[in-house]
Amino acid sequence: MSIAIPTINPIARIAIGLVALLLSLLMVIDMVFGLLPDRADFAREIRQQISEGLAIQSAALLQVGDIPTLQRTLSDVLKRNEALRSLAVRRHGGEIVARAGEHERYWHPPADGSSTVTQVRVPVLSDGKPWGEVELAFRPVLPESLIEWLAYPPVVALLTIGVGAFLAFYLYMRRVLEYLDPSTAIPDRVRTAFDTLSEGVLIMDKQSRVVLANRAFRALHPQAQDEITGKPVIEMEWLVGGFHVSPDDLPWSRAMASRASMGDETLEILRPGEEEQPLRTIVGCSPILDGHGRLRGCLVSFSDVTMLHRINDQLLVTLSDLEMSKDEIRRQNEELQRLATRDPMTGCLNRRAFFGSAEPLYDQLKAGGEEVCCIMSDIDHFKSFNDRYGHAVGDQVIKSVAKCLGSELREVDLLCRYGGEEFCIMLPGSTPEQALDVAERLRLSIERNAGAAVRDIPGIRITSSFGVASIRLGAKDPAELIDQADNALYQSKQTGRNRVSLWAGERSVGAQN
Ligand code: GH3
Ligand code: MG
Ligand code: MG
Repeated sequence: MSIAIPTINPIARIAIGLVALLLSLLMVIDMVFGLLPDRADFAREIRQQISEGLAIQSAALLQVGDIPTLQRTLSDVLKRNEALRSLAVRRHGGEIVARAGEHERYWHPPADGSSTVTQVRVPVLSDGKPWGEVELAFRPVLPESLIEWLAYPPVVALLTIGVGAFLAFYLYMRRVLEYLDPSTAIPDRVRTAFDTLSEGVLIMDKQSRVVLANRAFRALHPQAQDEITGKPVIEMEWLVGGFHVSPDDLPWSRAMASRASMGDETLEILRPGEEEQPLRTIVGCSPILDGHGRLRGCLVSFSDVTMLHRINDQLLVTLSDLEMSKDEIRRQNEELQRLATRDPMTGCLNRRAFFGSAEPLYDQLKAGGEEVCCIMSDIDHFKSFNDRYGHAVGDQVIKSVAKCLGSELREVDLLCRYGGEEFCIMLPGSTPEQALDVAERLRLSIERNAGAAVRDIPGIRITSSFGVASIRLGAKDPAELIDQADNALYQSKQTGRNRVSLWAGERSVGAQN
């Protein structure tokens, strides 16, 4: 079970402190300057006068032996004097002649025969000789009970000053602190207005102490839900830690130093248990200036953009997926393009693609008066490979020959699988001599390497025949040039195969074998 301990409000505490200071000051002044009258001295003097007056009166009555009047006088004096407890007239020798009050009870004379402030004795003379004395027992000067103390004038005065001063200080301090205390300085309707905003708002004074934190700000972190008004912002580690800068470089410090708004700083807020998904905010700071342009503080806003970031991240994922499918489409397009333009078995251009490139190229070279040659090639006795070893080996032979042809050509040359085991090559910029050299290189390469590439049939011998034609003999288009090269090829076949012939008009010229 918890016990509620009442707390004194801070204003009352300050007022009590001030009252204590004031009373202490008054007491010190009293001690030094005697501000309050010394009641003991005063009482002693009065009591002495009463006693002496009574002694004179007693002496006169004793002279005439009027003891009853003396008795009455004593009783009267006791009645009229509240400070008196008892009194008596005593003859030398100890006999009491007259008394009033319970004298035996209250009379305690000091041993040395002197008077004190409560026990006063005055000698009584008869015929000029000492006869006895009047004894008066007074109440103590200082109060004896709490009630008496409370009624004791100096205490009453101090209490009155104390209570009066407390009230005055309390009211004054409340007024002053209302002005200074930020938590009471902002009217409730302003707070409510800020609470309706979806953005977190933190208003701080120029010492960077929290003046106001709206509901959305308090929702940013569990520690923001504590009472933070009046707290230095720098003590909110969860907030300032996210900036990773020195206190002077915090955005609001810079905004206040430069008196210019700072916007769009991003801040990640880590919340306990949610470290994996930090809260992403955009922080804006606007310095608050009064009517004279003096800095009063700073308004800092926090926009939660976590959802925006999440959507953005998702968008990026979608974009990268799209990019990937775009790449895939490009790859597939390239594949389609390859399938559409290439012969699947050898990878050489098919006839359609070959003519698609060769025709504009030929026109361009012809128009520029440049060289171009065509080589037609056909595998010798190819049919016999099929017949002897089957079509699969025949296919391997075609592939092997195509590989030999491709490896000897330049990037700009066009290599086409023209028919079953026929290949057509376009050599832009080549003279007939250069084309003959190329054809010879190709012939040799096939003769030397093509057989070895057909692993299934060791020692198989493969050769090809070649026919070369040049633009110089006036072919109007690639088809005519190919025809001329084909004629030269026929010539090579006729003259023994495995050789190169150049088309030279009506008659081809055998070049080599
Ligand atoms: P020549 O030296 O006179 O050229 O003799 P050849 O046997 O090579 O002549 P021919 O043109 O009569 O033979 C070509 C053969 O190639 C006919 C055909 O069956 C075969 N052929 C055509 N295309 C293919 C192919 O893609 N694969 C295979 N294995 N054989 C093919
Ligand atoms: Mg043929
Ligand atoms: Mg052939």
